[in-house]
Amino acid sequence: MGERLLIALGGNAMTAPDGSAAPEHQRAAVEEAMRHVRTLLDAGHRVTLTHGNGPQVGNLLLKNQLAAAVVPPVPLDWCGAQTQATIGTLIMNALGPRVATVVTRTLVDPADPGFAEPVKPIGRYFTEEEARRFEKLGQTWRSFGRGWRRVVASPEPLEILDAGAVTTLMDAGFTVVAAGGGGVPVVRQPGGVLTGVEAVIDKDLAAALLARAVRAKVLIIATDVPHAMIGYGGPDPRPIGRISLPELRVLHAAGHFAGGSMGPKVEAALRFVAAGGERAVITSLPEIAAALDGDVGTQVEKGQ
Ligand code: ADP
Ligand code: MG
Repeated sequence: MGERLLIALGGNAMTAPDGSAAPEHQRAAVEEAMRHVRTLLDAGHRVTLTHGNGPQVGNLLLKNQLAAAVVPPVPLDWCGAQTQATIGTLIMNALGPRVATVVTRTLVDPADPGFAEPVKPIGRYFTEEEARRFEKLGQTWRSFGRGWRRVVASPEPLEILDAGAVTTLMDAGFTVVAAGGGGVPVVRQPGGVLTGVEAVIDKDLAAALLARAVRAKVLIIATDVPHAMIGYGGPDPRPIGRISLPELRVLHAAGHFAGGSMGPKVEAALRFVAAGGERAVITSLPEIAAALDGDVGTQVEKGQ
């Protein structure tokens, strides 16, 4: 029997192994990723896909900067919307008929602490001199040893505003691409009008929300490692297989999962299952079919 699935694709599904985001490398990576997704579709599952967009947004920001004297730079939320469209198009071309991409907005709180103290680095490294120039334009830049990078808010996703359209398309038999890059961040103005904000939303946390909203049974977080591990990077790393919500919470609180990489994936898995989702799986892209069968991957269930 086919299940409703939400698959979150990491950077390795959209860029070359060395991180290159040249168009032909993006296309090749997406085509390879979709071969694995195709296996699940052929088995009768209903799939919504979401994806990261870090390198793609980084490239757009650089273009904005280089062309600023000629073409007015566009805000970060516009860059996010553009990458949803381009990556969605690549996925639709790779998957064939009955696939739709939904430009998706994610509601955030204008009072989120991230706006007062932005910490999420985006785009490339620059020299201090260049960073200071951008600071004068109102941006926040920080030194990261290798150079300076722009930092922006990464607010909590509150609601996937376009989840209704995604559900309707799924119910009609479409494979849907949605909430790419965590969704285009928007805030609700006092009068009710929605406006975009300069922020980026964690794609795994947005995936957990979207998975609940479209009533997915399983959230599959597809990355570049087959399992989340205990003691990652240490002398004795151990893969985590089947694990209950309380057990994983303990490991998460003990700091086993790095912030900005495995941390948000574990957090997303915990949130999805705590909110009533049946199972969350963290695994590598080539293993998604085996992981759905429960054979590999970190398998998070509610437990007792
Ligand atoms: P994606 O691009 O798929 O979102 P990330 O690079 O953000 O993936 O996160 C996956 C990476 O997290 C792995 O390649 C690994 O280097 C890192 N990582 C950090 N902590 C752990 C851990 N405890 N177990 C496994 N991988 C971890
Ligand atoms: Mg990565």
